[in-house]
Amino acid sequence: MQLAHVIESFRADGKVAVVTGAGSGIGRASALALAGAGAIVVCADVDGQRAADTAAHIEASGGVGSSATVDVRHRSEVEALADRTKDDHGSLDVWCNIAGIMVEGPMVGTDEADLDRIIAVNLKGVHFGCQAAARIMTGQPAGGSIVNASSAAADAPSPNVSAYALCKAAVVQMTKSLAFEVGRRHVRVNAVAPGFVLTNMTGRYFVRPDGTVDEEMREAVLAPMRAHTPLRMIGEVEDIAAAVLYLASDASRFMTGQVLRPNGGVAMV
Ligand code: NAP
Repeated sequence: MQLAHVIESFRADGKVAVVTGAGSGIGRASALALAGAGAIVVCADVDGQRAADTAAHIEASGGVGSSATVDVRHRSEVEALADRTKDDHGSLDVWCNIAGIMVEGPMVGTDEADLDRIIAVNLKGVHFGCQAAARIMTGQPAGGSIVNASSAAADAPSPNVSAYALCKAAVVQMTKSLAFEVGRRHVRVNAVAPGFVLTNMTGRYFVRPDGTVDEEMREAVLAPMRAHTPLRMIGEVEDIAAAVLYLASDASRFMTGQVLRPNGGVAMV
């Protein structure tokens, strides 16, 4: 690759991308980053209104975005999203499995319903997304790139997130298995494993029922995290979106089966 191409390769011009969980947090930031880099982005979320808001933001910024209401727990919905995207735009180049939920509590106290609930979204939802994207991408001469959301929770144990951590560890293994299967068809499969960033998922620890933020509680939660992070900072969703964009783009064309860890150094693997 020549130097000029190295710089260009960080863009995503003309690539057709699907981002699940695009209605909020990391998914939304990833959709915006991909669109800003020139991709045509289909913003998918179980909350169709929030997905539409992200797509509207993309369009208002001069990008190309559309939205879809999709529940990743249902394989038929995920498959239909992949097919519709390919039919509408002629290719499917990038698929980001970002949708996820949290279930908290100690492992010994986790009931079966909660376990099923988180596995359905964070594990099976990613599996369905990988299958649907790979089915289409392996049939394209140019292949494609799949990016999965794992977590620092998969790298380092922390209290009360055992069910979440098991799903995120499974995502890493899924990423490697699929990367091994589809590499010869030019399909790359990588994961991001973010450290804590503020989103609806994590912000609820200090958001009151009326939507206002309890600043004291916020600092009580964030200060020890900051202190235990080598970079002494709490990341932002854009820090994760940058990693997603890199893995989606041709800049990472020699990477597959890898986990990128934007986490401030909190877990070094
Ligand atoms: P978020 O702000 O809650 O965004 C997740 C989005 O996914 C929400 O819009 C959510 O909708 C949607 N979603 C939930 N279930 C879905 C389903 N069945 N089908 C389709 N969409 C669904 O969370 P986030 O913090 O950005 O997290 C995004 C991803 O990054 C997750 O996989 C998470 O595990 C991972 N992650 C986050 C952090 C962090 O610190 N924030 C760290 C490491 C990894 P609802 O709001 O209606 O549920």
